[in-house]
Order: sequence, then C-alpha cells, then structure tokens
Amino acid sequence: MTAQDELVFVPLGGLGEIGMNAALYGFGPPARRQWILVDCGMGFGGEENLPGIDLVYPDLSFVEEERDNLLGIFITHAHEDHIGALVEMWPRLRAPVYATRFAIGLLEARKLSEPGAPKIDLKAIAPGRRLEVGPFGIEYVPVAHSIPESNALAIRTPLGLVVHTGDWKLDPTPYLGSLTAEEDFRRLGDEGVLALVCDSTNVVRDGVSPSESDVARELANLIKDAPHRVAITTFASNVARMRSVADAARQCGREVVVVGRAMDRVVEVARECGFLEGVADFRPPETFGYLPRDKVVALLTGSQGEPRAALARIAADEHPEIALSKGDRVIFSSRAIPGNEKGIGTIINNLIDRGVEVVTDRNHLVHVSGHPRRDEMRQMYAWTRPQIAIPAHGEALHLAEHASFARAQDVPEVVRARNGTMVRLAPGKAEIVDNVPAGRLYRDGDIVIAASDRAIPDRRKLAFGGIVSVAIAIEEDGTIAGDPIIDSMGLPEKTRRGEILTDLIADTVGETLDGLPKAKRRDPETVENAVVRAIRNTVGNVWGKKPACHVLVVEV
Ligand SMILES: [Zn+2]
Ligand SMILES: [Zn+2]
Repeated sequence: MTAQDELVFVPLGGLGEIGMNAALYGFGPPARRQWILVDCGMGFGGEENLPGIDLVYPDLSFVEEERDNLLGIFITHAHEDHIGALVEMWPRLRAPVYATRFAIGLLEARKLSEPGAPKIDLKAIAPGRRLEVGPFGIEYVPVAHSIPESNALAIRTPLGLVVHTGDWKLDPTPYLGSLTAEEDFRRLGDEGVLALVCDSTNVVRDGVSPSESDVARELANLIKDAPHRVAITTFASNVARMRSVADAARQCGREVVVVGRAMDRVVEVARECGFLEGVADFRPPETFGYLPRDKVVALLTGSQGEPRAALARIAADEHPEIALSKGDRVIFSSRAIPGNEKGIGTIINNLIDRGVEVVTDRNHLVHVSGHPRRDEMRQMYAWTRPQIAIPAHGEALHLAEHASFARAQDVPEVVRARNGTMVRLAPGKAEIVDNVPAGRLYRDGDIVIAASDRAIPDRRKLAFGGIVSVAIAIEEDGTIAGDPIIDSMGLPEKTRRGEILTDLIADTVGETLDGLPKAKRRDPETVENAVVRAIRNTVGNVWGKKPACHVLVVEV
C-alpha cells in the first residue's frame, strides 16, 4: 500500500434503473488502479420508447479501456439483470468470471451453447468461500433471494471492507436454498464495515416481505381445490417456486408437465445442482392432453407476456400440445416487470374470455418479491453498522428514498451515487471525485449499437409520421425527364375532405419543380431541399403531422 492508494466505487449500471447491474471497485493510486467488476447484467427495452429494441446493456467503455487492470468479474447471482450482458460484453473485457455452479450451469445451458458464443473463462465459487485477487479479498456471503445461490460480496481491501449486498431479502423459511447469513453479516459488522452498497428495490415498502413458504402454502391450496386443470406461470429461474408446485402436485396426486425451453433448461441445471432432489421427473408437454383434467399441473414460461412463450400461445389457443378450457385455472405466480403490463393484460383477457379462471398476486399470495422491505433493511444496517451507505439497485425514487432511510439509521455518511459517478470511499470522507463515461447500449437484432445511434430516433420518427420517397430524373440542362416516382409508407390514404394524399403530393412535387428556374434545377441539392420542404408543408397542412421525406435526384 502506498500513500496515494485510494478505494473507489464506480457504478456503470443499476443506479438509476432496475436492471443492467454492473459496478466497479478500484484500488490503487489514481493513475494505476486495479479493478474488479461486480455483475454484468442487462435491462429490458420494453419500458421505454425503443422500437425494435428488446435488450439494453450497460455501456462498459470505461472498463474496456481499463481492461488490462481488470482482475476479475464477480457474479452475485444468475438473474438476467446481473448476468445477462456477460456473454455479449465479455469479449471486450476478457477477465476471469467468478460465479456459483448454478449460475455457471444456467449460463452454459442458455447462452454459451449457442453457435459463435465466446469461450468465457468461468471459475466456480461456492457460497461462503473467499478468494484473493490482487489487493481485493472477496467473500461470497449467502443471502435469500428468488433464485438459488444468491450472494452478497464482502470485499476486503487494505483501505477497508465493503459489503455489496446484491439482491437479497430476509426469509426465515425460503422453501429452498440458503437463509441470509445473519451471523456472517454480524461478523462483518464486528470487523468494521467501511461501506454498505445495498439493494433499494423495495425501500418504499414498510414491514417485511412474506416468505416463499407462505406462497408455497397458497399455491398448494389453489392446486388442491382446483376442480380441473391447473397451469402456473412463473419466472423460470425461481427454483423454489418450481419445487413448491411439484411438492403440492404430488400431494394431490397430480403430475407436473413442464412447458417452455427456458423452464426445461432451469430444471436440468437445478437437478444437476441437487435442488430438485426427491422430486419425481416432470412430464413432457405432449402428455398434457392424455392426463385426466384433475390429475395435471402445468408449469409454463411466459409470465411476462412474451408473445412466443408457452402461455401466450396457450391463451391464444395456438399451442400444439397444451389447450385449456372452461373451468381450468391459470395462476400468475409472478409480478409484471414494468413495461410488460400490456402483454400480460392481453393474455389474462384472452384466458378469461375462454372461461379460464385467472389467479394473480392481486387476489392471492401467489408471489413474493425477492427484495427487502424497510424492516429487513433495518436489520442489515444494524448488523453491518457501515460508516458509508450507498443506495444501489433502484430507480431515482428508490435511491433517494433509501438515502433518507440510511440517514435515519444513523449512518455517518450517505453518498447518492449514479451510473458513471466515481465515489472515493477511502481515504478521507467519502465523496464523488469524478464522472466516467456510462450509459446504455442497445441490442438491435444481432448488432449492439450505442444509445446515440440514429437508428432509434429515425425509427421513432417513421413510426409517428411515416415516410414519403420521391425519385426525380433531371437532364444536364435542368429539364425534368419523365414523371417523378413517388411512394409513401405510413400515411393515411385520404385527407379529411376525401382527397387522395399521394395525388396531393404528386401535384406538390410537380408545382415545385415547375416553379424552380432551370438553372436552379441543375443543382440536385437545391431540388431536393425545395421538394422536401414543399411536401412537408402540403402534408402538414392537411394532416397536422409532417412525414419524413426522402428525395433522390438522379442526373441523366
Ligand atoms: Zn435478483
Ligand atoms: Zn437484481
């Protein structure tokens, strides 16, 4: 350790949104820092106005530049908002990746099996274990959450200990998987916690979350008293939920049919890791139709309304193997990720129209969040007693609320960091010392583009006002050769007065060209500008909206 050494925290995603978590910790003198990256998650595009974009990644250009000093990537758990950008971004970082067996199993089953996937340097680490990389000592501390093998990280450095909670909750009866390791957090508190970087997702909710076992009991009742078929949709990665459905089904003499590839993959990895020990083999979708109506429970993908997933196809009566009918019961053992409410609503309405009974977390305790409410957070602060609190994993509202909450817990220093802020944690008082590039990348088809790429505003413009294309041939002396070719997309056919809009455009183009002196027509750019302006004016006057306009002048 030298006199210039500093410990810094640089979030690149997840502080300002729920999703795309990625946080850097750096140690060393400012000119020669060594880094670790905690998580490499993605977000979903559905929430914002991003036509054609489903997935969003954090902009990691800052760490890409520093990749020679990146010692490792540490994954807290296998949710997509913590691991979903890894396969895409890893080739730009090329540092060893540490994750638990279950997370590695899911990564391999999901993304790394695809053709062209990179050979990621994956290293398995068990919950509860420690390892040293450069100046960092990293301990995986088990926490309860909604996916197996979730961990907080205790990050030790010569300048102090940081507890990065990852996603967690307190659940004394988690049905499957670990409890949040109270003893470990108390021990860390005794050792002295410099900074606590903590989950803010549910800071606006008072009290404590219900337990996963409460949900299991409710699901068991709903399966037991269902007169006919039961279909349950949940996040594929929620193995505890899957197991509680399997146990309840067995008690009522029902078989479990698993439908959807994402679910199959998780089942396979969960069995390999021992999370489904004692659970009878699930049945494939083709058996669904042969089993008596009161002897079957289906576990389905598609709880977020994904149009190609099993549930949406079943709701539209377009699934090759699974059909539901009047009197059957569908349970949404899930909550809508913001942006997905519409798709889910359509499915629910389709099901109800067909006489299927729909149960959601609005009328039954069929889902609990995996994140801590205020009383649970109070416990975490009491155990760890940090010098500095940094709210993480939340939108602006959650982060601000969490900052006041932390102050109320008598934490001496509370830092409101956002993506791209560099917070110096030590030495001295914690403060924001720099801003680094941060932002978003969009997955557009098979290409990853910058958020500044003009593709997205162009698409929005096209979606709002359509486009008019005009091709004009002009001879060398400025004579117009033949009639201009005009095409349009996304414009109404007729005006309010019943005129054909394309006729109106053709007239405008003709008049504009006639009005230009021959000398001016010899300059393609002048012609293009004049025609674009005229079309946008004409259409704007009759429509109240202006289309995009492409004019191509060809010299013949
Ligand atoms: Zn999570
Ligand atoms: Zn998360």
